[in-house]
Amino acid sequence: MFQNIRNSLINIKFFSKKFFIQNNIDKIDFSLFKEYDQKHFLIPNQTHSNNIIFSNNPGQIDNCDGVFTSNPKIVCMIKVADCMPIFFAHQYKFFYGVIHAGWKGLSKGILKNTSILLKENKIKFNEIDIYIGPSIQKCCFEVSRDIIDQFPFWSIRPKKSGKFMVNLQKIAFEELRFVGFDEKRIKISSDCSFCKNNNYYSYRRDGDKTRRMIGVITSEA
Ligand SMILES: [Zn+2]
Repeated sequence: MFQNIRNSLINIKFFSKKFFIQNNIDKIDFSLFKEYDQKHFLIPNQTHSNNIIFSNNPGQIDNCDGVFTSNPKIVCMIKVADCMPIFFAHQYKFFYGVIHAGWKGLSKGILKNTSILLKENKIKFNEIDIYIGPSIQKCCFEVSRDIIDQFPFWSIRPKKSGKFMVNLQKIAFEELRFVGFDEKRIKISSDCSFCKNNNYYSYRRDGDKTRRMIGVITSEA
């Protein structure tokens, strides 16, 4: 139903396709998240931007693709179907958040903005656990020549068809490592949302009508 990951203080859950099929919903139905108080959700209204915010108050944030908090009551939420949900959890402080990073967000610098936000909050990068959840991987993320400049050369594999396969998780991993996060603390799900069609929604595979998976990160408090 979901993947549940935690360090000492902070808990990540990723609600995948089966969860939503069972419950047959198109919109977020907060009654499904019984263990959380609906009043405590902090939700970005995602637009593939590079905008992220820090807030100790719940709410929905317009034109935003990542939310961080140090209020242990807050539940940060993200919606995805191919884009990467990237979770950040401090090892021993109440500081955590999640971003929505597709290729557009990556090329606009959402990870750079994330590292700036952490610096502003005096967070040491090597004290952060990172989890990159199920998302479209190098087996299925195909792009054409017109946008190939958006990606570093080492992330691209040309195909006979003239198209290119791109490894988005590797781009995120290298960028996180480059700014100073500890590579041993970066975990990447090997699940591709496009191939594993029994488990995940995929925007590329299923088009406009596809639903979304939901990731949440909150404290154990
Ligand atoms: Zn795949």
